[in-house]
Amino acid sequence: MELMKDGKRTDGRKRDELRPIKIEAGPLYRANGSCYLEWGGNKVMAAVYGPKEAIPRHIQDPRKAIIEAKYNMASFSVSDRKRPGPDRRSREISKITSEALENVVLVEMFPRASIEVEIEILDADAGTRCAGITAAAVAMADAGIPMRDIPVSCAAGKAGDTVVLDLVGTEDMKGQADVPIAIAPRTDDILLLQMDGHMTAEEIDEALELAIHGCHQIAEMQKEALMTKYKTFEEE
Ligand code: UDP
Repeated sequence: MELMKDGKRTDGRKRDELRPIKIEAGPLYRANGSCYLEWGGNKVMAAVYGPKEAIPRHIQDPRKAIIEAKYNMASFSVSDRKRPGPDRRSREISKITSEALENVVLVEMFPRASIEVEIEILDADAGTRCAGITAAAVAMADAGIPMRDIPVSCAAGKAGDTVVLDLVGTEDMKGQADVPIAIAPRTDDILLLQMDGHMTAEEIDEALELAIHGCHQIAEMQKEALMTKYKTFEEE
């Protein structure tokens, strides 16, 4: 299958076009904050608990709160049923998600506390770490966790010899490179930068530019989702 034909991608998108994204803030009643997000073929639920006393006590940091993100792929989220439970990949994604969030949350305000973020991937079609971070950020804001900015994440990469925004499953599998990033959109501070595959230095610059532009578009949707929830709340 050709990944790029007449300037169009396998799903008909242009090179700098995002997949359709839908964000809902606060769909869960019992979590302190939550977010449901659909991004192309990805479906993600994120829930936040805390800040609360970190347990066991030896994990407490007397200077700041710790962020414990847990990324999990449901076994039914992929075509080859995934073996349930944590694996190397989910541990890695949990770690990079915690680190991205830690850099924007005012962790110094909550010494000895932990803030738990659970990310459940219900349906997966590439870019689930970006979808997870984007949903976790909205869930954190919904929980009222003080943050310097609302982080947002998006990937760009190379498929069909072209630098493209937001790779879909087939592009991720058959393409040449994938560069997921997360930023704090007010300052464009980079909170996450990974790369899988091969690109030239110029292509990396181009991909970063595309991904940052994509992040800004998604940041608007995050804000809209939060405003919609709190507007409805006020009306009630
Ligand atoms: N994937 C899968 N089984 C797995 C892990 C991943 O089918 O155990 C698929 C899934 O669609 C995922 C994609 O491969 O979204 C790309 O995975 P990657 O590790 O690059 O992370 P992602 O792009 O989802 O952040």
